[in-house]
Amino acid sequence: MVSRVIPVDDFDLVIFGGTGDLARRKILPGLFRRFRSGQMPADSRIIGAARSELDTSGYRAMIREAIVEFGGDEKSDTDTLDQFLNALEYVAIDAKGEGGWSELKSLIRDKVIKAFYFSVAPSLFGDLAERLHAHEIADADSRIVVEKPFGRDLASAQALNATLAEHFDERQIYRIDHYLGKETVQNLMAVRFGNVLFEPLWNSHYVDHIQITVAETVGVGGRGGYYDKSGAMRDMVQNHLMQLLCLIAMEPPSVFGANEVRDEKLKVIRALQPVEAHHIVRGQYDASDDAASYRADVENPRSFTESFVAMKCHVSNWRWSDTPFYLRTGKKMKARTSEIAVVFKDLGHKMFEGDSARHRNILAIRLQPNEGMDLQVTIKEPGPGGMRLIDVPLDMTFADALGDDAEDATDAYERLIMDVIRGNQTLFMRGDEVEAAWAWTDPIIEGWEARNDVPKLYDAGSAGPDDAMMLMHRDGRRWRDIKG
Ligand code: NAD
Repeated sequence: MVSRVIPVDDFDLVIFGGTGDLARRKILPGLFRRFRSGQMPADSRIIGAARSELDTSGYRAMIREAIVEFGGDEKSDTDTLDQFLNALEYVAIDAKGEGGWSELKSLIRDKVIKAFYFSVAPSLFGDLAERLHAHEIADADSRIVVEKPFGRDLASAQALNATLAEHFDERQIYRIDHYLGKETVQNLMAVRFGNVLFEPLWNSHYVDHIQITVAETVGVGGRGGYYDKSGAMRDMVQNHLMQLLCLIAMEPPSVFGANEVRDEKLKVIRALQPVEAHHIVRGQYDASDDAASYRADVENPRSFTESFVAMKCHVSNWRWSDTPFYLRTGKKMKARTSEIAVVFKDLGHKMFEGDSARHRNILAIRLQPNEGMDLQVTIKEPGPGGMRLIDVPLDMTFADALGDDAEDATDAYERLIMDVIRGNQTLFMRGDEVEAAWAWTDPIIEGWEARNDVPKLYDAGSAGPDDAMMLMHRDGRRWRDIKG
């Protein structure tokens, strides 16, 4: 298979928060990979802008260390790493003051694409947007990239959208949800809309239910203070899980264009029914022999914040009227895995005598680990024992199927940044999508707050509280095993 890397146009990318955790762990190691592959033109520049009083050589040294720590095998290519670091500049800047802005302006070139990555707290978005214009750094073609969290409820998301809209058109705003940059997520659209096999079956007539699981093994780590004010619903469901649900459930757009895709996703969110309280289970991880409880981790002994949530939702439209969607996400679970499983219905008629087992086709789309898909199909068990049936996976692990090309598969962040430079918004959330998602989650969260809902405790390393199992069992269904 021939790998085709098409270089993007020459650009200047300013990373506000360029010394922060996200920039060092994800953004810059990703950009180095794009540089090394030839996709980032050698003349392009990356300008770190943050509060630390560093000069450019100090910044380059910091990013060299970051790439050595967080990069993959490519970090051993020290010649190319040196060339990449030469493309880096640094400006000490204050988002809330005037320091550093004229220096930044002097670094930005005229005739290249200008992108500004806001890798800082959302409370600084307005200050940055305002100063980029006041200092005439941004122009009508400049792009800004904003990170989650995009608001903590509908009102704050609307306020944030309004602030950005004062300075930038929607076509200039790239709201990142890195789940959408994953290879498998895009493959999900290719599988659905590029094959004749699946789309005719993709509806309530053939699909019994859909499960979306995003399980982490880590706890809240150093983010306890932030996480305790947020919880799994705000941190994971409102954005990542809902985006996955949209891609699975949406109608085929007329063309694969940014607004066409996002229009269809928006229709799914608007078709989501309010969730009944007994269709949601909230959980909080308990202490185990060797690890602290959630409450100890966040240093809040009375915390009612959930580190786990499982729910049953309905998309109220023609295609999905009878197919429930079960969503589940949590921390300190038994394995780290993200997958979407489309569970098809049983055969109506059983013609193989003596086979009483339940056989179901399941299309499982694995986002991590081991990105790929498998389709569970029923075949005859080998051997002379008659027509006994077993279920086996038709496995398509990208690394096996695509060989060297899979090795070169880009990480979500780097792919999305290249999309920003190309001006392709398909994999970014539009403002109205984000607001619609909050409009759906707000009443759920408000209900918990009004009832002082106490999350159920679950053991670290488990699949969540028992009630989450019951949510499915009551419907005669079961969750798939959480396997790493
Ligand atoms: P961080 O605290 O590690 O870094 C913050 C950066 O902002 C630093 O470079 C700091 O110098 C800069 N900064 C702070 N105040 C400033 C000011 N007044 N003027 C100019 N620069 C200022 O944060 P982070 O983890 O890198 O996260 C950045 C953003 O990305 C946050 O909004 C966070 O919620 C979001 N995010 C982070 C991650 C992650 O994995 N770290 C994941 C998703 C989203």
